[in-house]
Amino acid sequence: MVSSTLKTTKSEEIFAAAQKLMPGGVSSPVRAFKSVGGQPIVFDKVKGAYIWDVDGNQYIDYVGTWGPAICGHAHPEVISALRDSLENGTSFGAPSALENVLAEMVIDAVPSIEMVRFVNSGTEACMAVSRLMRAFTGRDKIIKFEGCYHGHADMFLVKAGSGVATLGLPDSPGVPKSVTSNTLNAPYNDLEAVKALFAANPGEIAGVILEPVVGNAGFIAPDAGFLEGLREITKEHKALLVFDEVMTGFRIAYGGAQQKFGVIPDLTTLGKIIGGGLPVGAYGGRKDIMAMVAPSGPMYQAGTLSGNPLAMTAGIKTLELLQKPGTYEQLDKMTKKLSEGLLKIAKEAGVAACGGQISAMFGLFFTAGPVHNYEDAKKSDLGKFSRFHRGMLERGIYLAPSQFEAGFTSVAHSDEDIERTLAAAREVMASW
Ligand SMILES: *Cc1c(COP(=O)(O)O)cnc(C)c1O
Repeated sequence: MVSSTLKTTKSEEIFAAAQKLMPGGVSSPVRAFKSVGGQPIVFDKVKGAYIWDVDGNQYIDYVGTWGPAICGHAHPEVISALRDSLENGTSFGAPSALENVLAEMVIDAVPSIEMVRFVNSGTEACMAVSRLMRAFTGRDKIIKFEGCYHGHADMFLVKAGSGVATLGLPDSPGVPKSVTSNTLNAPYNDLEAVKALFAANPGEIAGVILEPVVGNAGFIAPDAGFLEGLREITKEHKALLVFDEVMTGFRIAYGGAQQKFGVIPDLTTLGKIIGGGLPVGAYGGRKDIMAMVAPSGPMYQAGTLSGNPLAMTAGIKTLELLQKPGTYEQLDKMTKKLSEGLLKIAKEAGVAACGGQISAMFGLFFTAGPVHNYEDAKKSDLGKFSRFHRGMLERGIYLAPSQFEAGFTSVAHSDEDIERTLAAAREVMASW
């Protein structure tokens, strides 16, 4: 571990206290610095592209509260809309017109979504969608991909990505085998493996769920033809195709990865951005499938706080801001400069690295690559990643504390922020 030049006395005090109060001192394992060493910094304030810690250090942020902050943190228009909404109450537990507004925006934007149900997190959305896949097809088995993360529901905690990959806990105790025996895993970008699973389980597979661009095993793009291939295979077997766009929705493009790649799934899950920084998830898709959801149909799923007026308000304002012409062109151009810059710096420093970017999502692995799946991602030099993470943190750049997470930019990141980030990376790698 490099000796720290960063003053983090208050962060350390608060985190030490937190560790006595909450498991690992955090409310979500991905926030811990377990895989990179050192202790997490404790945030005090977020604004635009920046975060401040309790010791007064300022950082350029590439986590964006794990995705939602695509307009920048605490955007003045989102805050102002929330203030107005707050005056009308924090929860209705009854229909509100705000739900119609966000539902219409989501349906207009996302090609596969004809009807939508709001929930409170991406985990809930994926849990509900798996039930719906099974209810609609009358089949129990689901295919997912190694290193993809679909929240922490039992059936998805097999060879999962995100924090489970970071902490090396591919399977979790407490998950009944009877549940995960219906979860089939294939390597990402491997159509032959998917075909083999369908062949070995005839008439038993309800569908395939995936991150259309992986962000939870680090950043991994789909190979040409992969998404199209899955669409064909699922059609052929009368199984459903589900894109988990909790991360990629409104980030890869306004209409998500399905718009970007022109492959339309049957069902889609959303979260993160559509809540504008408040807790939201959603699932939606074809009308005939969504009609199965209670009270319209028999598949039960409910939520006390679902469609919460504050969350709807933040989501509506965030999507409105994203509709500004040129938003995604700007995000793509900026993120490309960052991603290509990092690769060039690594090359000049003689550091084996590969990575890429689509729109406002990027990643860097410390392996020559290429990375097509989770097995490839695991070849990244995690020691180098830890040193990179620490070096960047000490230079005021906040990256996700894990190799197995994508990076996120926002419309608030300026060209100067990108330049400063690249200068920091150059300094860090120059000393290797
Ligand atoms: C974040 C994420 C989830 C889980 O969402 P939560 O709101 O954290 O429960 C599910 N799927 C994907 C692809 C995600 O990135």
